[in-house]
Amino acid sequence: MDSSNRPRRPDKKHPASLSFDSQAVHAGNSPDATTGAILTPIVMSNAYQLPDDPSALDWSDSQTLFYTRNSGHNQMCLERKLAALERGDEAAVFSTGVAALHAIFFTFLKSGDHVVVSDVTYEAVARLFRELLPQKYGIEATFVDISDLTAVQAAMRPNTRLVHAETIANPTTKVADVSALATIARAGGAMLSIDATFTPPPMFRGLAHGADFVVHALTKYINGHGDAMGGAVIARAALIRQLKNDALVDVGGSISPFNAWLIMRGSVTLPLRLSRHLSSAQAVAEFLDQDPRVAYVAFPGLASHPQHDLASRQFGGSGYGGVMAFAVEGGPDVQNRFVASLRLITSAVSLGHDVSLIVHVGKDARRGSSAYPDAFRTYGHMRLSIGLEDSADLIADIKAALDDTLGPVVG
Ligand SMILES: *Cc1c(COP(=O)(O)O)cnc(C)c1O
Repeated sequence: MDSSNRPRRPDKKHPASLSFDSQAVHAGNSPDATTGAILTPIVMSNAYQLPDDPSALDWSDSQTLFYTRNSGHNQMCLERKLAALERGDEAAVFSTGVAALHAIFFTFLKSGDHVVVSDVTYEAVARLFRELLPQKYGIEATFVDISDLTAVQAAMRPNTRLVHAETIANPTTKVADVSALATIARAGGAMLSIDATFTPPPMFRGLAHGADFVVHALTKYINGHGDAMGGAVIARAALIRQLKNDALVDVGGSISPFNAWLIMRGSVTLPLRLSRHLSSAQAVAEFLDQDPRVAYVAFPGLASHPQHDLASRQFGGSGYGGVMAFAVEGGPDVQNRFVASLRLITSAVSLGHDVSLIVHVGKDARRGSSAYPDAFRTYGHMRLSIGLEDSADLIADIKAALDDTLGPVVG
């Protein structure tokens, strides 16, 4: 997919010699020394053999294999792969995306610190910064509209340690200008963490844009099959070392070897899946956008999106993600009836799965709604994650459900 200064001869033992698509297949995998199996087996063991003299071992070490909470074979393979795919030094994997996010906040913030957070984030992050971290630990947060860089700058304080945003926000699809945020954070002596769950590589690589931490809910696109949860942080080696020592070893949100293996397998097809997610999402968003029965569509790939140009620039025109939010004309009952008449798209939370998923979030069920665009506040929203089905089938399903709910378009 790209060819940045790699040695000429591709060698699967040296992931740096491979293009992204080949790395997705080979990085982190190596033949099993015991059996000769060409794929890394699942090592379901809580402990590894100790050296003859274990007295020198540091029980908080996350580099040496001895206890699976600290590290394990399948975890390490997945970490190597994710570091290669993000072009980072190192990665740390966790049991969920939220555990990975919490690990950054827990490790790098302390009482008296201040954080600048996007006013639209994953709900767990919003609650951590609105309630839990301020109340329990005296960490202060300012929520800002990160599309307003002047407001971000104005929110910085001498004790601001971290700026946190999502590359494309769940669910409003607000786009973060990562390079600009990195410049502001750095000038203020703060670090930048970016939740890139909606924009996995090769679509976007946050470290190259100046982020200190890139976070993924592996649960979503990187695993891609909706059958395993996980989270990852990719960053410089020293930061990952500290993160593991504090938040993995001593808090313990470790991923199981089996889930690490499943995610390793799922990620083999990431480039193939992603290009399908991106092209189908664009087609579905364009269909929704031209239908008069649809009240609004929020998707960065539409010219009507307030940050369409930024998204085109930042994501290099490869696509705009696989998730959109929209509503049909009418109240909550109409939205519910629309979802109930879908026969292909599944009503369930989560996103980035092989199956297309829709969730209706009513305007009153949503917290922090003052930060949402007017249309979200008027209609609520349906978050639609486009899966790997044929986009013509998806559009036909949506059209039939619109006809059932609101009647056919006349004229
Ligand atoms: C799903 C999601 C998370 C949380 O991931 P879990 O694996 O469910 O903990 C975090 N950020 C974003 C943007 C997500 O969509």
